[in-house]
Amino acid sequence: MKIAKMSIYNEIRGVIHVHFPRRKWERYIEIINKESKKAKIDFVILTSHTPKKNKEKYKDLFEIDGYYNNVLVIHSEEVDEKKKDHFILIGKKYWTNEKDIDKILKSKDDNIIKLVVHPYGKHRLFLIKKDYNWKRWNENFDGIEIWSLLFDWADKTKIYNIPIRYLFFPSNISIPTERVLKKWDYLNLKRKVIGFAGLDIHSLPKYLKIFDFKKSFSYRSVFNTLRNHIYLKDGLTGNLVEDKNKILKAIKNGNLFFSNDYLKDSSGFYFGDSEGKYFCGQEGKIGDIILIKNPILTKTKLIRNGVVIMEKEIREENFKVEKEGNYRVEVFLGNKKWIFSNNIYIKGEEDGKEKI
Ligand SMILES: [Zn+2]
Ligand SMILES: [Zn+2]
Repeated sequence: MKIAKMSIYNEIRGVIHVHFPRRKWERYIEIINKESKKAKIDFVILTSHTPKKNKEKYKDLFEIDGYYNNVLVIHSEEVDEKKKDHFILIGKKYWTNEKDIDKILKSKDDNIIKLVVHPYGKHRLFLIKKDYNWKRWNENFDGIEIWSLLFDWADKTKIYNIPIRYLFFPSNISIPTERVLKKWDYLNLKRKVIGFAGLDIHSLPKYLKIFDFKKSFSYRSVFNTLRNHIYLKDGLTGNLVEDKNKILKAIKNGNLFFSNDYLKDSSGFYFGDSEGKYFCGQEGKIGDIILIKNPILTKTKLIRNGVVIMEKEIREENFKVEKEGNYRVEVFLGNKKWIFSNNIYIKGEEDGKEKI
């Protein structure tokens, strides 16, 4: 079947989990904005660690949200509990107090988004072992950072190979670990958990900047790497409140795929109902026709409940769903992992729920 109407959705792209120096935020918004323009992205989700003191002094950061030169900038908070269990919190207007973390993680609030970051994060870049493992798997979070630019790279970087790892960055971006993918599939058997890619870039301190002669760790260079591509029914309008709402809703819904666009721009990839009635991140039913559309003819895996059920080179393919379950797609460029979709949740007959 030929798919003629690809105007059934709008695709926008952006980056999530971008740190910047708090005290110089005005200057950094300018820099980040310029770099976003050059990287041709539509939105940036900035992230600030919760200030441990002087919260009041930094409350203006929650007023950052806005359109800057057509790039929508949204501010979020990276909350941690005594340096452990990091998660991004979007949609609040004030800093989180440590005593409220528990309540926030347990709440089911449609107006906020909770994204677990670097769940298996650890590195020993500076000889000291840092462990940022997520332990609160039973809480109510919306999604997980499946692909983390910083941590997936740092995990393979040891003190003795920093120079070589650095020289080849970003062509040596690591892929998401099997462990996190397995966990993601496992959690989705119980409830919906969305996946996304995060950068976790920090602006380098001055004394390190002089070593970054390749400018590999500049905003522009990483904005061209791991990106989130969001499907919207209607495109952006230029109205801040409306557009912000659309983007955040789509993220919470999982209407997105994420990819390493440094390998090749993945724009145009599609995974959803063949007529655009729903996208990945949403529910469908047995008998539905789902469309997988790649930007080029390339190796593609269709995965159901964590098990590969189809693996072949495709450009565009319709797939009739005959079994309930969670379906997601991984696309390769050569042998490198390139694109990850979110799941489509196929629901069966009321009682016919297959035991998983
Ligand atoms: Zn963190
Ligand atoms: Zn971070």
